[in-house]
Amino acid sequence: MVRKRLFLHPTFDCSFDHVCREDCYLLKDKTKDEKKFRIPDKYWVEITKLAGENGFEELSLPINPLRGVTGVKDPLHWLRLLSPIAKEYEMVINITTTLNVADKIEATDGVDIVAVSLDDFRTGKDWKKYAEKLKKSSERLRSFGVEFNCNLSYDAGTQIQYLHNSYRKKELTKIFDYITLLWPKPLKDAGILEVGAARLIQKGDKNGSSYPDLIGKTDGFLEDYCMSFARGNTSCDAGYGQLSIDAFGRLAICPYSPHGVDVSTPEKFQDYLVNTLPKNKVIESCDLIDVE
Ligand code: SF4
Repeated sequence: MVRKRLFLHPTFDCSFDHVCREDCYLLKDKTKDEKKFRIPDKYWVEITKLAGENGFEELSLPINPLRGVTGVKDPLHWLRLLSPIAKEYEMVINITTTLNVADKIEATDGVDIVAVSLDDFRTGKDWKKYAEKLKKSSERLRSFGVEFNCNLSYDAGTQIQYLHNSYRKKELTKIFDYITLLWPKPLKDAGILEVGAARLIQKGDKNGSSYPDLIGKTDGFLEDYCMSFARGNTSCDAGYGQLSIDAFGRLAICPYSPHGVDVSTPEKFQDYLVNTLPKNKVIESCDLIDVE
């Protein structure tokens, strides 16, 4: 079920900056000083309240492991600040984070869904050891009712290592409730193999044995939301069913789109909700996922 959701990114601080990937949608093109920027906590509290009052049903938080350059060292700081407020409005709390941070989440944090990213960088050379770690985390989080999901970055290597490897694939479907193959965005800037595979899928051609996984037809797999839109299977609710605010207090219609609208005070966000959001049109195409 797609809920009306607000993505909040209260910080650009991340200890994986330049370590896991250069094209991170959150950190790309940010200067060293910009990564230290922090809006007072009161702002995020007010924004969450406004979201609840205006019918948002899900609070989505990407939680980075932190260096501490903003003065906040605990990666769960904003979750623990905002979760009780979101729960007052019965919002679902959906977080995307690393496995080490996921292991710090407690039942009292009120989290409903945790997604962790999986790729070669995170897995390292010893898949068996990493899979054991994933299993332990999965058991712990599921024991207090958390849905535990995986975002698997799509590239040719992932396809071979996880989708063409039936043993690993079976392991993943046991460890996680859902696995989503995430396509790079902007997709046009991805490698030739990824763009080629995406082009086939968007044209409706089958793309070998992993095609059902990529379009979410295999049990336990979900399709990348944006890819589903690009191939005409679903509409995209960016701008009315989802909004995103970055650490500068700038708004975008979705987490991957440029954040340019100034909502750096609760009053400005309220004004956006009342005067702009109702006029937002359903998008017909999206450059970020197009391949032509
Ligand atoms: S606007 Fe584009 S990138 Fe954003 S959610 Fe929709 S399809 Fe995806």
